[in-house]
Amino acid sequence: MSDLSDLYQEVILDHNRRPRNFHALENASHTADGHNPLCGDRLRLYLKVEDGIIRDVGFEGAGCAISKASASMMTDAIKGRTVTEVDALFQRFHQMVTTPPECPVEDMGKLSSLAGVREFPVRVKCASLAWHTLKAAMSQTPRVSTE
Ligand code: ZN
Repeated sequence: MSDLSDLYQEVILDHNRRPRNFHALENASHTADGHNPLCGDRLRLYLKVEDGIIRDVGFEGAGCAISKASASMMTDAIKGRTVTEVDALFQRFHQMVTTPPECPVEDMGKLSSLAGVREFPVRVKCASLAWHTLKAAMSQTPRVSTE
């Protein structure tokens, strides 16, 4: 039985303190808002998708350390990837945080620091918020670029 401190590993604390890509994007092609009422986490995600590639990504919002760190790590992980790759990454991440705690999960590098939420069902929503918001953003019809 691990305690809550395991949940706040160094990598999570670091991303919470210094979130990556924590800003709005002026010419985003996709945006979506995410809200986790269980914890009060809110975020707005911005994507710039061109030719099926996530060229740039940013987010704004406020929430617990888990939700913010997860959003920060996600933006790092998806920048420069194709929409198809990001879709596969979403599936892998979703599987990681929903697999029962006693079962082994795939090593996802830094993202694996969030695997600990499996022990705390309420926290799974915090860790998944950014990813579900990403899914919502990508499912939208892109805004016409003014360039
Ligand atoms: Zn939260």
